[in-house]
Amino acid sequence: MADAPIDFGPLQRLDAQALGAPGQRTFRLVAANRRGTAWLWLEKEELQVLGMTIEQMLGGLPLDPALQPSQPPAAASAHEDDEDRPAIEFKVGRLAMGYEETADLFVLLVHEIDVDPDGAPTLRCLVSRRQLRALAQQISTVCAAGRPRCPLCGVVLGGPHACPRLN
Ligand SMILES: [Zn+2]
Repeated sequence: MADAPIDFGPLQRLDAQALGAPGQRTFRLVAANRRGTAWLWLEKEELQVLGMTIEQMLGGLPLDPALQPSQPPAAASAHEDDEDRPAIEFKVGRLAMGYEETADLFVLLVHEIDVDPDGAPTLRCLVSRRQLRALAQQISTVCAAGRPRCPLCGVVLGGPHACPRLN
């Protein structure tokens, strides 16, 4: 990759997707706008950390009711494999996020896995609060999709479960 960061500017689309069969799934972020599309491959754990980071960042900011999503985010498309391979595609090493107060936009700084994490990011893009909130919801849906659910209450099972339906 070039030394200068790819600056995507404001994104029109930011999705979390899981591909493949349960147990062998791979995960990626799809970032797109008029400049093009980038596939950012990452581990499920990294995706979960990103989801938690987003929740924390948004939780620490005042809520603007006008920015609440009016409808739940659409699930990642089922025909994602039909999409053309984008010009930008790499495996994520480090993900950092910042907040630009003046623009009320969040900066996503993505380092490719072999790039110095303390150096310039490989890709930089701007995302809105609404996009981040939708992304965090998508991440939790995508990450939970491969795990078993309690047949009684539908909660994702990760260990011992005291089912409220049995009380
Ligand atoms: Zn249950």
